[in-house]
Formats: sequence, structure tokens, C-alpha cells
Amino acid sequence: MAGEAQQDCLFCKIVEGQIPATVVRETDTTVAFRDINPQAPTHVLVIPKAHYPNAAALAAGAPELAADVLRETQAVADDEKLDSYRVVFNTGGGAGQTVFHAHAHVLGGRGLQWPPG
Ligand code: 5GP
Ligand code: ZN
Repeated sequence: MAGEAQQDCLFCKIVEGQIPATVVRETDTTVAFRDINPQAPTHVLVIPKAHYPNAAALAAGAPELAADVLRETQAVADDEKLDSYRVVFNTGGGAGQTVFHAHAHVLGGRGLQWPPG
């Protein structure tokens, strides 16, 4: 059912503490932790604790939770003292999504090119 933890989901396991992560922020509904393979000096992932396979499913199924995730991306940027930063939701394998639990990448701390390629 939408939102329920998935047994084989890496990020559900991070939420449940079964896999360690460097958590930088946590709310009742979200967790933010450092990416294991950072692409910038700041590279933090913000996820809903509830499982949705991607940002589109999250926005459609739980818009208030999607807003919580967005609010936390800004909180991460504030904590990291980023004045410029990028928020990315890779959605679908063709766009580079590899973990199918909705997550926002918060990237900053270096110059970022646009378009990203
Ligand atoms: P995607 O490619 O799905 O948009 O992003 C998934 C991200 O999760 C990647 O940037 C990848 O480095 C990160 N990642 C994959 N496995 C782990 C893990 O076990 N721990 C952490 N902290 N990040 C992970
Ligand atoms: Zn999950």
C-alpha cells in the first residue's frame, strides 16, 4: 500500500536504522542524510520516512509530505550556509534514478553548470 515500508528498499532500511547513514536532520516525517557518493561539497538526500517510489508518486499520493520534503531541502541549505544550491528529483531510470524511494538531492558548495547534461 502507498506509504508503507518496503522490505527490499535501501532508504526504508535507513529510516528504520537497519543501515547506517550520516543523518544531518530528522523530523516526524522526513530524514536528511549525506549521500554516500557525494557529487559536491554538500550533497544531502532528503527523503520522506514513508515509502513512495518517486517524487511524482509522492506529490500525487501525499502532497503535504512532499511539501515537508521541500521545506527540509531549504533547511539543509540553511544549515550548510549555502546561498546557491540545486535541488534534484531524478524520476525514472532514464533520468538517473537508482533508488526507488522518493528523495531530493541537495547539492551545493561549488559552482554548478546548467544544463546539467
Ligand atoms: P538517484 O540516482 O536514485 O537519484 O540517487 C540515489 C543516491 O543514493 C545516489 O546519489 C547514491 O550515491 C546514494 N546512495 C546509494 N546507496 C546509498 C547508501 O547506502 N547510503 C547513502 N547515504 N547514500 C546512498
Ligand atoms: Zn522505501
